Amino acid sequence: MEKTLIVFKPDAVQRGIVGEVLTRFERAGLKIVGTKMLQPDYDHFYQHYEGIGTLKSRKGDEIFESQLASMQEGPVIAMVLEGVEAVETVRKMVGDTEPKKAAPGTIRGDYAHVTYGQAASIGRGVANIIHASADSDEAQKEINHWFSDSELHDYSAVHEKFTQPGKKA
Ligand code: GDP
Ligand code: MG
Repeated sequence: MEKTLIVFKPDAVQRGIVGEVLTRFERAGLKIVGTKMLQPDYDHFYQHYEGIGTLKSRKGDEIFESQLASMQEGPVIAMVLEGVEAVETVRKMVGDTEPKKAAPGTIRGDYAHVTYGQAASIGRGVANIIHASADSDEAQKEINHWFSDSELHDYSAVHEKFTQPGKKA
């Protein structure tokens, strides 16, 4: 089984839609193996978005700094989800980075509509509800960055008998 990191961003927490969005992942059969609410500082997000995510190198200082400021506007909820090819499945459910482009049916397409241009005009990172690891290498690094081993749990979900026949429920 593969693990991936999701982070409900301050816009999701402040809009009170965390439960609704989380239900989508649970309904798809993804298992929560770690979760916590926290308000990380600049350095934590620097490592997340540049050390691991290379956002500053890809998009430049202005977008990077506005994204870090937006992420520090309130608490976030971080989770580790587990499932078959969880990284790719979760990214598919999350949708395109820019909400305007995100397809209907995806989380960013259903819960947001804003554009890069509009976000830039007010100096903010684009408010797109949720972070999800982009690939398995990023997932491993991000999980290590956000969670200690003792914060991750091992248990059987009842429906895992369909994907792992030997595993006891
Ligand atoms: P993700 O993996 O789909 O979240 O996208 P990236 O790793 O490229 O970017 C990280 C986050 O930075 C995004 O989810 C957005 O919140 C923000 N962001 C990325 N690109 C832009 C941009 O061009 N403009 C603005 N305003 N925000 C951006
Ligand atoms: Mg990314």
